[in-house]
Amino acid sequence: MNHFVEMENGTKCEILGIIGEGGQGIVYKVKYIPDHKVYALKVYKPGAVSRKFFKNLSNNIVKGSPNDSFIWPKMVTKPFGSKMNRVGYLMNLKGSSYTSMAKLIKGKSVPKSTMVQLKMLLELIRAFESLHAKGYSYQDLNDGGIVFDVEKGKVQILDNDNVAPYGENLGIKGKFKYMAPEVAISMFMPDKYSDYFSLAVLIFMVLLHGDPLEGTRKTKLVSLTLEEKEKIYGTEPIFIFHPNNTSNPPDPVIHSSVIEAWDRLPNFIQELFIKTFTHGMPAKNMTREQLQRDRQLRATDTDWIKAMNRWMDSLVTCPHCGVGTYLYLDEHKHPKPRQCTSCGHMLNTKLPTLTVSKGNRVIHDIILETGKKLYDYQLLDTNHFKMLAEVIPSKRVKDYYAIKNKSTESWSFYVNSETKISTKDTLIPCIDGIIVNLGNQIEGEIYAFHKYKESEETKK
Ligand SMILES: [Zn+2]
Repeated sequence: MNHFVEMENGTKCEILGIIGEGGQGIVYKVKYIPDHKVYALKVYKPGAVSRKFFKNLSNNIVKGSPNDSFIWPKMVTKPFGSKMNRVGYLMNLKGSSYTSMAKLIKGKSVPKSTMVQLKMLLELIRAFESLHAKGYSYQDLNDGGIVFDVEKGKVQILDNDNVAPYGENLGIKGKFKYMAPEVAISMFMPDKYSDYFSLAVLIFMVLLHGDPLEGTRKTKLVSLTLEEKEKIYGTEPIFIFHPNNTSNPPDPVIHSSVIEAWDRLPNFIQELFIKTFTHGMPAKNMTREQLQRDRQLRATDTDWIKAMNRWMDSLVTCPHCGVGTYLYLDEHKHPKPRQCTSCGHMLNTKLPTLTVSKGNRVIHDIILETGKKLYDYQLLDTNHFKMLAEVIPSKRVKDYYAIKNKSTESWSFYVNSETKISTKDTLIPCIDGIIVNLGNQIEGEIYAFHKYKESEETKK
């Protein structure tokens, strides 16, 4: 191949080497001449993609990337090669710190902490939310198209040449397992409801290292014929943790770790999986109309974002074994007594809660504990993870905490009808009823076992 490829806008890039090869084509490492930076250039094999497919790709470039998590196509090439039958597109290189989802599912790559794992999933869900907000669906979602940074909790979505507007089909058949069953059996075109199914599969796989539809029905088979495969993933799919249909439970031996992981999940996460994997599932005697209505009951991006936020807000560390787990709150916003899901000891529940509200809307109920970091996505309702504050314990008084302002902002707070100001590195005591003004119409209220009087007395 010629060492230079001409782009549609007349600029050129120089081919430096091969990064990888797949069914559709080859990905090259290239230097883009105008800015001298290194990029990836995917070149399709002759005849591998249709004119419609390539037109869709060009449209996606014009419409732009849904958010930063996507390695979005930047520009397409002019036809090139000796027969002028090669085409491709330029994109950024995948970050070097990212590992494949396959490694993550197999446990060969492990997120640094529960918080990092959840942050990673939240980024994945937000990416889908942005994609759907632009009216796209992901036609060929699978574990090969997503990579994770398990240290920083970041995600990158590759292979975005298959993204298309709702109801469009580019002739790409996704992978069984990840595809919504109604798409797998060609009853529906991919859209956001089928993406909700695929998204839930990805989340399930990262959290449980198993497959939501692979229970005893599959393990009992001598060989997996195409017919059986279609039944499991398409015509008669049954969720392994279906609350009413127990004909496909996880195998107690083969899937023991999946069962344990399921039992450790917060109930509000289990509910979203149940909602997604029991609705919109094709079954005998089900009409297309019934299926169409039922698939709209699957958990949405917003449902997942809320649930992940709730999980992250309620994360605590077991004082006995050091494992990250979570607590539920009672109606007074006090943590309910709960055993550690790893070691079985009772968790420390004498902890304050910071309730963050915007107007009348509660956006976060954050359970505070020693060392807990508070981020701007929680305190300022953003999409970012910038640490703004940290929880520190009192050295003298048991079960008494303070929030240390680590931001450059000044926060005013009201205590005993006095207004005080917290600037960088100063403390806000976690006394019941304190209200912190975080700016931008956002307020935090502290619910704690420590009342004002009590804490005044302890000062003496
Ligand atoms: Zn424990």
